[in-house]
Amino acid sequence: ATPTAVMVASGMGASQGVLIKGGNALEKAHKVTVVVFDKTGTLTVGKPEVVSAVLFSEFSMEELCDMTIAVEASSEHPIAKAVVVHAKRLRKKFGSSTEEIFDVDDFEVHMGAGVSGKVGDRTVVVGNKRLMHACNIPIGSQVEKYISENENLARTCILVSIDGKIAGAFCITDPVKPEARRVVSFLHSMGISSIIVTGDNRATATAIANEVGIDEVFAETDPVGKANKVKDLQMKGMTVAMVGDGINDSPALVAADVGMAIGAGTDIAIEAADIVLVKSSLEDVITAIDLSRKTMSRIR
Ligand code: ADP
Ligand code: MG
Repeated sequence: ATPTAVMVASGMGASQGVLIKGGNALEKAHKVTVVVFDKTGTLTVGKPEVVSAVLFSEFSMEELCDMTIAVEASSEHPIAKAVVVHAKRLRKKFGSSTEEIFDVDDFEVHMGAGVSGKVGDRTVVVGNKRLMHACNIPIGSQVEKYISENENLARTCILVSIDGKIAGAFCITDPVKPEARRVVSFLHSMGISSIIVTGDNRATATAIANEVGIDEVFAETDPVGKANKVKDLQMKGMTVAMVGDGINDSPALVAADVGMAIGAGTDIAIEAADIVLVKSSLEDVITAIDLSRKTMSRIR
């Protein structure tokens, strides 16, 4: 496209809440044959809520909450925010007078898996089953049962281990965005297919996929896995748009022909993307592709 056409289209996009960073994205978006959606915060509202909390060891609910809050308070992940809010509420309910957030040392983010750190002399790991496996933390049959029951209800389970033992868990629900199903169906009518890639488990991801009408699911993928999925599709000759909101989506956003970041997402995702959907509405995936189609047909 000519610099003028790019400028005009960028202006039109901006007025509709679609920020296009340069001509390249605009020139590619009309060719997109597949849209890869992240799940949490992209297809879902990204305001997860804890709906269940349990203890699995001798640690009290207060201790579980203290340790969880300390570690999760340093995480930007929407799941972390939900867990912190709920744990603070629980701590109060169980009679704790403290509102203190204990210091955490050696804080670590395990992308697409959870977080860990030292709280005083305790080692705390908060995240999914995969993270517990990676940290050699055994998961007993009682915990397994709790996880599978909740995952079958489309919930995501967050396990908390203290000093190498599962101390408790939180289960989370996160509703899909109201427009998600409509957008997937409209893309389909444009000849564009949709895929979910997520770090979350298969059972939860499949439940969400069914809700929005997507039939291809890649679950339990780390950030590199998400990017590799994009590259796989490209090798099969597809032109790929990736839509994501998280730090964990950044490699895939960069790898995609067109990376689209949810406006409400993390700064790193917004930086990695070619297009920013300022209103955080999935409808604007279509707006962006449409704008590109119009621009490219006008100059040809
Ligand atoms: P998605 O790809 O759906 O956006 P992520 O890759 O961000 O999901 O996260 C994948 C999974 O990793 C989550 O479902 C959760 O189990 C776990 N996880 C990631 N970050 C955290 C965190 N801060 N606390 C607890 N669990 C986390
Ligand atoms: Mg996400």
